[in-house]
Amino acid sequence: MAAPAPSPQPHVMVLPFPAQGHVMPLMELSHRLVDQGLQVDFVNTDFNHDRVLKALTGAVPEGIHMVSFPDGMGPDGDRTDIALLGSGLPAAMLGPLEEMIRSRKIRWVIADVSMCWALELAGTAGVRVALFSTFSAAVFALRLHVPKLIEGGILDECGKVTRNETIQLSPKMPPIEATEIPWASLGSSPDRVRMIIKSLLKTNPAISQATTVICNTFEEIESEALGLVPNALPVGPLEAPLASSSSAAGQFWPEDTTCLAWLDAQARSSVIYVAFGSFTIFDAARFQELADGLELTGRPFLWAVRPNFTDGVVGEGWLDAFKRRVEGKGLVVGWAPQQRVLSHPSVACFLSHCGWNSTMEGLRNGVPFLCWPYFADQFCNQSYVCNVWGTGVKLCADERGVVTKEEIKGKVSQLLGDEEIRARAAMWKDKACASIAEGGSSHQNLLKLVNLLREQ
Ligand code: UDP
Repeated sequence: MAAPAPSPQPHVMVLPFPAQGHVMPLMELSHRLVDQGLQVDFVNTDFNHDRVLKALTGAVPEGIHMVSFPDGMGPDGDRTDIALLGSGLPAAMLGPLEEMIRSRKIRWVIADVSMCWALELAGTAGVRVALFSTFSAAVFALRLHVPKLIEGGILDECGKVTRNETIQLSPKMPPIEATEIPWASLGSSPDRVRMIIKSLLKTNPAISQATTVICNTFEEIESEALGLVPNALPVGPLEAPLASSSSAAGQFWPEDTTCLAWLDAQARSSVIYVAFGSFTIFDAARFQELADGLELTGRPFLWAVRPNFTDGVVGEGWLDAFKRRVEGKGLVVGWAPQQRVLSHPSVACFLSHCGWNSTMEGLRNGVPFLCWPYFADQFCNQSYVCNVWGTGVKLCADERGVVTKEEIKGKVSQLLGDEEIRARAAMWKDKACASIAEGGSSHQNLLKLVNLLREQ
């Protein structure tokens, strides 16, 4: 009897919100799906697609088909205004996505929670939709809790904090001040905050009924928060394939891998790694004080200063002079291969803005944190690090909002002298590695997801 014909590989569309901290983890998930024999159509906006292709140092990974559509903004539109960018996406993308789903016979869409309007595609294009959260489960739970914060008089209908108090949804979840809830700091103006809260309240009912919410976290670290997210499926921490720097295909800036040889030449556990993700912007005072603080520590440091990291006040000349001054001791690069840096034995600690990806990456590599959050979910992530997991310390700003060089020097010494923090960081690293290893909780959840995506 002839063997049955092999079934065609299931075909999944992956739809990230057009920002670096969303494209990267969804690309990492795509790699895991391709490893399991699925095919992925990865959708970027045209603007980001061009950046990703420019930053790519090798071929696009096999099994991942990169496509792109306009984002609805003109060439000079301000794409750092997340609320504005997000508000135009459904009108610009729904039609082309429907067409593509039909023509490529796609059966499943994995849509970023920040693109949850894509849930509509279930009705209009007959596809099944799973959501993916690039935030912690705690932030997701907090999002679902916003109507209660309004009812309780902590926020008003426009998202303005009307009564400041500590919010902690359950004992092992991070306590945060009401003023630190992610949406309070996301908008550039009260109007933007109102727009974000309005859209969040409108979409909460649909996202709480989604069949699956894939989360870049793991059971052992967020069990209580995950219990508050309906149909959560934690598969993290997700990471790029480390074997080849070129295969990730999600970076917006080219990685400067020369820093890896520099790290090889440094003593074990000696280097302060400094990076603030893709959005944070420093003014001149903060930037120069940070530079002086790193120099003052007297320790080797690697600092990622992406091209748009400062608000333009700090001239290239100043940075070049700084680089020359610290040559031999400190290295400044434009965009670091962060995951490989964090896994390098020379790295002692991570001075971070606590974006969720950076937080997971530091935790997964057992690196203690110096936390300097800037906006959105970063305060909540800082609270996890400092108050719940005990793997880092907070940098405190002065009355100008500037973290002084003395504060940086003092906290670096405090952190590196703290054996208990290092021991806890090592413990969480072991738990993270166990969760993604064969048989671990996240690995099992990934297999569940693959089975689900294979369903007709
Ligand atoms: N990243 C990187 N090189 C850098 C700085 C950041 O590869 O020099 C990556 C980092 O590994 C992480 C992502 O950019 O995966 C930033 O995401 P995160 O959630 O930490 O911060 P966001 O950019 O969203 O503020």
